[in-house]
Amino acid sequence: MTKVEAPLQDRFGRGVNYLRLSVTDRCDFRCVYCMSEDMTFLPRAQILTLEQLYDIASSFVQLGVKKIRLTGGEPLVRNNVMSLIERLGQLENLEQLHLTTNGAQLDKFAKPLKAAGLTGINISLDSLQAGRFKELTRFGELQKVLNGVDAARDAGFNRIKLNAVILKGRNDDEILGLVDYARDKHIDISFIEEMPLGNISEHDRALSFISSEQIRTQIQERYALTPTTENTGGPSRYYRMADSQSRIGFISPHSHNFCHLCNRVRLTVEGRLLLCLGNEHSVSLKEIVDRYPGDHDRLRDAIIKAMDLKPERHHFSLDDEPQIVRFMNTTGG
Ligand code: SAM
Ligand code: SF4
Repeated sequence: MTKVEAPLQDRFGRGVNYLRLSVTDRCDFRCVYCMSEDMTFLPRAQILTLEQLYDIASSFVQLGVKKIRLTGGEPLVRNNVMSLIERLGQLENLEQLHLTTNGAQLDKFAKPLKAAGLTGINISLDSLQAGRFKELTRFGELQKVLNGVDAARDAGFNRIKLNAVILKGRNDDEILGLVDYARDKHIDISFIEEMPLGNISEHDRALSFISSEQIRTQIQERYALTPTTENTGGPSRYYRMADSQSRIGFISPHSHNFCHLCNRVRLTVEGRLLLCLGNEHSVSLKEIVDRYPGDHDRLRDAIIKAMDLKPERHHFSLDDEPQIVRFMNTTGG
């Protein structure tokens, strides 16, 4: 087995063993909380090649990273993304290779993804009503995503989770419907509090915000929820229902500060290593892989040094103007 160097650690003693890798800023949807309708995407010269993405990801694995999540934008719209996933799937020290997707193309990709060594899939799903789904995603077709969920199950993934962002007045009447759908499909579901990333016209975040606590209260009117100590290496807090294998998770950056447990960093497709989703601290790894292709020692040194920049916590607030001007699709969720 390839030797792993000393695991990455930041100034606050937190071990970093999880990399979220954005493989594109592009997407076939324009979800209202994520993108504006008229997005300008990055020119090709500004983004990492698949080779560079692989070099950086494999350097992280050599530095003790055990879990990589591919995200974006929509990872499955990147040309030839399967070739990257196939190579990552062969990294022997990588324990979990996961994907976050809008699910629209999973009917085509689920089987090859499983064969490539992907170990888990998160599928975003905010509504089970076709008309509303289209309004929330601006371009999305619900049926394709539902077919994608079934394809992922048929391909034999045993770690499938839905991610739902609930917005007051837009889909908060579907919380129980989404839970029942997850139960029916024997998969997990997490509810995510909306985060103030990027200014989006047509959508007032302060008015649409609904807390995890409010969502949980609604679910508990139908199902008793027992908190679990289960941890999937992320910020979700999980609950179980007595009569189902499906877990219900809550990701609550506003109402529950999980920074002290943070074990992750993010790489944007521009090659910026972000040390915290809620702060601008970053280092450009693209400069290094552009200037010194193949110099893995230099790349690993830069990654180790960057850990000193990881801040203690984020400072999200609904009352303030967004301090973070990045959109979610550029940071990789
Ligand atoms: N396109 C893929 C998808 O939708 O699953 C992967 C990228 S997307 C940016 C990752 C996750 O971030 C999705 O579950 C999406 O719902 C969530 N998301 C996007 N913008 C958000 C925001 N402002 N607040 C909270 N979650 C957000
Ligand atoms: Fe695309 Fe995902 Fe953002 Fe929706 S949440 S616009 S699917 S990147």
